[in-house]
Amino acid sequence: MKIVDSIAGLRAQVAAWRAGDGRAGDGRAGDGRVGNGRVGGDRVALVPTMGALHEGHVSLVEAARKHAGRVVVSIFVNPTQFAPHEDFDRYPRDLQADAAKLGGGTDLIFAPTVREMYPDGFATTVSVGGPSEGLETDFRPHFFAGVATVVAKLLVAAMPDVAVFGEKDWQQLQVIRRLVADLALPIEIVGAPIMREADGLAMSSRNAYLKPGERAVAGRMNVILREARDPGAAKQALLDAGFDSVDYVAVRDAITLGPASSGPKRILAAARIGGTRLIDNMEFAHA
Ligand code: AMP
Repeated sequence: MKIVDSIAGLRAQVAAWRAGDGRAGDGRAGDGRVGNGRVGGDRVALVPTMGALHEGHVSLVEAARKHAGRVVVSIFVNPTQFAPHEDFDRYPRDLQADAAKLGGGTDLIFAPTVREMYPDGFATTVSVGGPSEGLETDFRPHFFAGVATVVAKLLVAAMPDVAVFGEKDWQQLQVIRRLVADLALPIEIVGAPIMREADGLAMSSRNAYLKPGERAVAGRMNVILREARDPGAAKQALLDAGFDSVDYVAVRDAITLGPASSGPKRILAAARIGGTRLIDNMEFAHA
């Protein structure tokens, strides 16, 4: 597994794949198989992550493979999307375990340092309105500016044909679609379904924080959302199930995340148990 930590190294590898000569790569000829008009060159997919990889991340890589001959996974715990009191310092980091988890399905890991992504004097913030407003932003006000800034930087660094994001972070997915549309980046954004544990708990790197009793409670969230008809009742059901507090349960327009309209709707929730904050969402098919 090739790992690069510099933007220059990432660009050199992507350029070699696009040229179809495998220069900086493994000597494999370009596949040119997806009809991208670049004869001999590979299409490239990017899967941005913060590491601590699980089957949810692996499913994104598998989705990426369907769209491109080459898959880059970025692993970067992005400090600008964490508030000072959040879990940036304790967020799990193990690059070798992540590389092993990815196995052969990934061509390159891009694992930059904080300094590479945010060099001295860094002073740019990408701020997306629209779908960023409300929900996560009400409880993590700096979150989407951090996400949008780092994702914009990762996309411009890799310039992939396709980037894959999980529906687990539904609001984030809509924010990134908005960002890419507004900046007219020539990159297709693919959303991949939520991977769940046997009891339906959405897989998350943060599930590792859960103590056994908390883990059982956590598994109730998806059931409560699936059965919900009314967000107020669902909020109470989460508290009754043992969550310490509920940041929000809301039914919104699935794309704009504004008030639910006649179009597709989504129920989204965030709740806390012990020191862990969990989120989930799913289609809301009720009137
Ligand atoms: P993270 O490393 O948690 O920032 O997540 C990186 C990417 O993986 C994001 O696009 C997430 O939405 C996605 N992801 C995380 N957990 C899951 C899951 N259980 N199922 C599908 N995608 C996921």
